[in-house]
Formats: sequence, C-alpha cells, structure tokens
Amino acid sequence: MPPLQVRFRRFTSLNTTIRLREGKLLASLSDLLEGAPEPVLHSIAHILLAKLYRKPIDHTHNLRFKRFASSAAVQRQTELIRTARGSKRYFGPEGRYFHLEEVFDSLNMRFFGGLLGRPELTWSEHHAKRSLGHYDAAHNTIVVSRVFDRPSSPRYALEYLLYHEMLHLKHPVRMRGIRRCVHSREFKAEEAQFPQLAEALAFIKRL
Ligand SMILES: [Zn+2]
Repeated sequence: MPPLQVRFRRFTSLNTTIRLREGKLLASLSDLLEGAPEPVLHSIAHILLAKLYRKPIDHTHNLRFKRFASSAAVQRQTELIRTARGSKRYFGPEGRYFHLEEVFDSLNMRFFGGLLGRPELTWSEHHAKRSLGHYDAAHNTIVVSRVFDRPSSPRYALEYLLYHEMLHLKHPVRMRGIRRCVHSREFKAEEAQFPQLAEALAFIKRL
C-alpha cells in the first residue's frame, strides 16, 4: 500500500479526486464530506481506489454514496455553501504589518503541536471594532479585524485573538440539551494558558 495523503478542500460540490504521483496516493475530497458518517467515507475510499486501480465498484458502496449525496440535508448544505462561497469576498491573509498565515503557523507550533489544519485566514474589509474576530464554520474561515494590523497594535494582541479562534477550531460548538455551548470549560481552561492573556485583554478593552 503506497503512502496515502487525504485532503479536504473547499470545493463547492461533492468533488473527489485521487491520483498516484511519485509513489504516493493523493486524495482530495470536498470539505462538505468532512463530517460525513464513517460508512459513507468508507464507501468513498472504496470507490476512489476501485477507480484508480480500474477494479469493479461494489454495488453497495456505490449505492450508499449516491444515497448520501442525494439526501435532502446534503443537498441543502451544498446549495447553501455554493451560494455563500460564490458571493463572499475575501481580502486575504497578508496585511501591512502582519501575515495571518505566519502568525497562525507559529501559534500552531507553540500551542497545538502543529496539529491544527489551517483554515482560510483573512483580514476584515474595514477596521471593525464591534467584531474583532470570528470563525465562520460554513466557509472554514477565520476573519480578523484590521484594527490589529497597525504598528500601534502589539503582536500578542493579534496572537491572543487568533489563538481564541483557533480554540474554536479545536473545540467545536457542542449542544448541551437545547443550549449551544460555545466556550466550554475545556475551552476556557486552554484559553487561560495564553501567556499574555491579561495584557491582550487590556489592549482589547482599550479598543
Ligand atoms: Zn469565542
């Protein structure tokens, strides 16, 4: 079995591709499939490998994937993402003073052992003060307000903000009964480990 690399990418459909390159298997799946039930992912793996090696596709697997793809919930989700991705504007990770990908990668190494997958990162359009940062799960994007891209804004403030959003990646929203639990106890405990937490919060308060 050759080494296998699987990536979820921001496709607007349920696209999947597989290639064998330099002895490595590279599979790309739409991030719409990231939360698919395990049997469905199993079927996708079967279908991709069968296609690659020109083997017959097992009927059960084919049927299971088709059923999943045509289910109302998946269709609705695909439609929503297609509309939203089509219209959403991005300003990219490169600011005047800070590059969000560089800051993300260094935080990832320092606090997450480099294990967090990097989402899309973008500066906001305006110098928004009401929303300093948020993680947009539908677009797998972290948006950071441009107020942090100024020489008067210390790096630790930006780092804290991004760190907070990265914790949202690590601790997805859970339902506790009918309540959405956004900042769980584990979330808050990890957030408290940020070394310059007090300074960062004080800076944000002054904003
Ligand atoms: Zn939060």
